[in-house]
Amino acid sequence: MAESLLLRNIRPWGRAATDMLIVDGVIAQIGPDLAAPNPHTRMIDGAGLLALPGLVDGHAHIDKTLWGQSWHPHRAGPLLIDKITNERTVRREMNLDPAEQSARIVRQGISRGTTHIRTHVDIDTEQGLANLEGVLATRAALRDAIDIQIVAFPQSGLLIRPGTLDLIEESLRQGAEVVGGLDPAGIDRDPAGQLDAIFALAERYGVEVDIHLHDGGELGALQVEMIAERTRALGLHGRVAISHAFCLAMVEEPRYRALEAQLVELDIAIMTHGPGNRPFPPILRLTQAGVRLFSGNDGIRDAWGPFGNGDMLERAWILSYRSNFRMDEEVEVALRMCTHGGAAVMRAPRYGLEVGCDADLVLVAGETPTMAVMDRAPRALVLKRGRVIAAEGRCIV
Ligand SMILES: [Zn+2]
Repeated sequence: MAESLLLRNIRPWGRAATDMLIVDGVIAQIGPDLAAPNPHTRMIDGAGLLALPGLVDGHAHIDKTLWGQSWHPHRAGPLLIDKITNERTVRREMNLDPAEQSARIVRQGISRGTTHIRTHVDIDTEQGLANLEGVLATRAALRDAIDIQIVAFPQSGLLIRPGTLDLIEESLRQGAEVVGGLDPAGIDRDPAGQLDAIFALAERYGVEVDIHLHDGGELGALQVEMIAERTRALGLHGRVAISHAFCLAMVEEPRYRALEAQLVELDIAIMTHGPGNRPFPPILRLTQAGVRLFSGNDGIRDAWGPFGNGDMLERAWILSYRSNFRMDEEVEVALRMCTHGGAAVMRAPRYGLEVGCDADLVLVAGETPTMAVMDRAPRALVLKRGRVIAAEGRCIV
């Protein structure tokens, strides 16, 4: 017999109270006063809580968080390369288990309503595929509770560390769905070389591309163009993302407009997490132009910094605060980046709160979605394909 769950009295995205019938993990009916299809139907009283679709952490680094370890004072210097070098030292000193650490932070995310994660996993010649293997183990162990998509990420550089490219390719064979990159100019000092290598892999393996681009100003803008060129040449429209893209907030107006037009034409998605002290892409402007935006927690309490707690409602708050959003419609744009935006980039099938969608959702207190973002109240209930994976702020898987 089909397994059924009847959620009574919930308010999808803050709309009027209604019931939702979930059958075999899929939303089967939405409407007032629904009848249970059989006597074995499980009933849950939603008590008028807000229902949001499962939160999507579209940019994570679950392999290297220090979550659950004793407090580690932050020691890295100000430059990107300081942080990369410091991280390798910390990793050696602490001898972390990527499977254990990634499972810890994933469970933390689940407790806050996350049902999908795109995670960049460090691949380099020092540790080889150890982090990938750890994240693959976590993905397998928690496959009924969360969808995890893996980006093979050359955190220490791609071309400046010979052998890394082969490891990235091996990662794609072993289950990574996305090929990553890192400041092709700033780190590798060979933008054409790194981008050609990444896009060749994307073409050969039919995978998507997601490139960390911290390089600012004109150096960054030039690389956005180079990414666009290759996306166009290979017909990878809608399959490429640029993470951070600080340069979009640093160039002159005409230059910005030209870059934005290319992002729209090629459907290149932009990820921003609302960084603390950097200029970052203009969320409303890009959204209004039709650029797909998404967000993520990025590193959480790791060698890069002490911040983060895995909460994508808090991330929507940070995006709103950093963007000076005050109107509800603006805050909802930030919230959509942390839900539908990330799901679209991950190509999550059947995502949303409509009939026919997977029942991935979170119940939280709040009169409206904006109030939920501002309050970041404990998540009363989190469902993954109709199964309860967290309740009262605690992960139960
Ligand atoms: Zn990152």
